[in-house]
This record gives sequence, structure tokens and C-alpha cells, in this order.
Amino acid sequence: MSREAFVFCPRCAKPLADRPVADDDGGSRVRRACPDEACGFVQWGNPVPAVGALVEHEGEIILARNRAWPEGWFALVTGYLEAGEDPREALAREVREELGLEVTQSSLIGNYLFERKNEVMLCYHAVATGTVRLGAELAEIRRHAPADLRPWPRATGLAVADWMRARGLPVEFVDFAAPGARPPSAEGGR
Ligand SMILES: [Zn+2]
Repeated sequence: MSREAFVFCPRCAKPLADRPVADDDGGSRVRRACPDEACGFVQWGNPVPAVGALVEHEGEIILARNRAWPEGWFALVTGYLEAGEDPREALAREVREELGLEVTQSSLIGNYLFERKNEVMLCYHAVATGTVRLGAELAEIRRHAPADLRPWPRATGLAVADWMRARGLPVEFVDFAAPGARPPSAEGGR
């Protein structure tokens, strides 16, 4: 949960309040914090990292639809890192859990802010082998030739676009979150 907003201090249970908290540069900023300075809890609201896998399997890209998403929403395989887990291990684990595939090769595409969820997506191109077997979180997958991908203009979609451009493929964004726009092959949802 990256938008976790406490009402009571998770350390001492006093109600949190907005108060100035010192910054490293000598200034201060109003933050949600514990009023008890001896406790010192501050709700920093730092973005949470998550991994995103642009999965290539037998020459095609696999996009997945989460069970919680509407029809037509497909996206990269994503997930949070476990404590102490290397991002590439998290990537391989998510691809294994959600698609039943083994990642044999992965390369970083880039890191992308997903403002709405206060996450930073660490996005990788992941080449995977095996037979697809959907995990409990996924409703269905779609397979696309790389040139047929239509990224959405935010978060993981920007990773898809950068990956396509690096291969000389023309990029056509589709904002399926916009009213009336929900094409069946759009990448997005996260
Ligand atoms: Zn406290």
C-alpha cells in the first residue's frame, strides 16, 4: 500500500497532525506527523518501488489483465518487491507467479513514476520461456507482435514506448482512461 494514510500514530497511537518537520537542507515542510516529539513519527509518503515486466515469449509480447480490471485493460506484469529482494529477483518471481514462465534474460528499460499510486515502476524487458499458466491474480492475457503495442501515456506505458523506440518501432499512444476510449489492445492499467 503506497498511499497508506494513518490517522493515528502507528508507534504510539496519538492522533496525527500537520506540523512543520525539518528538511535536510535546513528548511522545513508541513507534514503529517505525530504531535509527540519524543515519539517522532513522520508520515513521509515516499513513493513505493514496484517492478514491471514487458514479457517477451516466443517472439511476442504478453500483456495481462488483472481480475480486478475492466474488459480491455491489459498491462505489464507488475508487483511489489519483498523485503530484501533484488528487483531482478522480484521480476522473475512475479513472472513465474503470474504467467508460469521462467525469465531467462532481463534488461532494464527505465524507472517511471506512477503518480496516482505514488509508486516508482522499475520496468524491465524480460525474455521468458515455458508454457503459460495463469496465476490467481490474472483473468486473461493477450499476445502482441512488438509493433502492434499501443501504450498508454503514463507509468508502464512510457516504458513500453521507450522500449519500442529503442527498436525503431513507431509509437502510437492510446489513452484508454479518457472518456470513450477503451480500445481492446491498449497497454495500461498500472
Ligand atoms: Zn507517535
